[in-house]
Amino acid sequence: MNQPRRFETRAVHSGERRPKGQNGPEDETFFPISTPIYASTTFSHPDIETTDRVLGGEEPGYSYARWGNPTVAALEEALASLEAPEGGSRALALASGMAAMHAALTATELGPGATVLAAEQLYGSTATLLMQIFGASGVEVRFVDAYDLGAVKEGVAELKPRSVVVESISNPLLRVADTPGIAEITRDAGSALIVDNTFGTPYLQRPLELGADIVVHSATKYLSGHGDLTVGVVAAGAPYDTALEQIRKTVGYVLGPFEAWLAHRGLKTLPLRMQRQCENARLISARLASHPKVAKVHHPALADHPDTKVARRVLSDTGGLVSFELAAEGREAAFRFLNSLELCVRAPSLGDIYTLAIHPATSSHRELSPSRRERLGVRENLIRLSCGIEHPDDVISDLEQALERL
Ligand code: PLP
Repeated sequence: MNQPRRFETRAVHSGERRPKGQNGPEDETFFPISTPIYASTTFSHPDIETTDRVLGGEEPGYSYARWGNPTVAALEEALASLEAPEGGSRALALASGMAAMHAALTATELGPGATVLAAEQLYGSTATLLMQIFGASGVEVRFVDAYDLGAVKEGVAELKPRSVVVESISNPLLRVADTPGIAEITRDAGSALIVDNTFGTPYLQRPLELGADIVVHSATKYLSGHGDLTVGVVAAGAPYDTALEQIRKTVGYVLGPFEAWLAHRGLKTLPLRMQRQCENARLISARLASHPKVAKVHHPALADHPDTKVARRVLSDTGGLVSFELAAEGREAAFRFLNSLELCVRAPSLGDIYTLAIHPATSSHRELSPSRRERLGVRENLIRLSCGIEHPDDVISDLEQALERL
């Protein structure tokens, strides 16, 4: 009997060597084992009747790059096999994580008078997208502490929102959402649940299996993993999948074939990278927690993290990020620490093979007022580390020498 293939196997093989025709013409004498980059704006057919059927959606195929491209389709098949292995859902690759979030929100039919209930811990640009773009067209945007299930329940009951937007793991304090609990609340209320799973990745959690309606990724981060491209993913089943495809086609935020090829290549090592990144994050957070120059460490594997129990229930591991507060107060100490790093790279991103360090108060949370940052726990002495795949001892030595210089 054929066993369903496991996550690691799907990550390596899915989307490659697709049936003849799906990835364009195929020479009978050889088969590329890795899908090529189809750098073509349009696709021609043996006759105009076929073009007519393809354009009319009566026959599968490619016609114009904004509607579909074989290299992008190969990536999408791989993404769907990881994010929605049970079938029934599709994954679409878009030009960026923000494009993916825009498409997801649009697919839930937000319009004048509709309400969105969003996590107050959301990535800053997502909050800006909601308030400045959707808010300007008459959508009411309300925020809630998404890591307090009671507060979500109350908010949904009061507002009856069209959609609810949360992140599976929040930035930068790494709070873990109770995705199945929130999904139960939104299902009962008839609201669409959008989960940004950028920090989680399908390796840690598959929100569609837990009841979410739409999953969004900045695949610029872990899914691609090498810090060399910008790409977004949105995955959903009916009715959202058809709407999402129509929105992408019409708005035009498509992914180029070269970026799709790079993302597909990166995706193959996602399980290996994530396993190492989770291990490194656990070791590094434990070491930092006992360091005299560190006041507090935020990581879901640590016993004093507020969501350890939820994490055990909804994540398969505790993730590759660690945040910590220096014992020395203020921005100056944080900057001195960051400038002393010799191996960890100072850069405002995450999920790469390199260990990256940033100062959230002046990067991801820069646009917030100091009082809002304080309320969210984004203090001036807070550092966020995105663990890479280096030997953990080398990263720990670098962090310790930088701490010694404080
Ligand atoms: N969602 C989260 C959680 C992010 O961290 C980011 C970017 O940092 C985005 C969405 C936006 O992704 P992109 O930069 O690929 O547009």
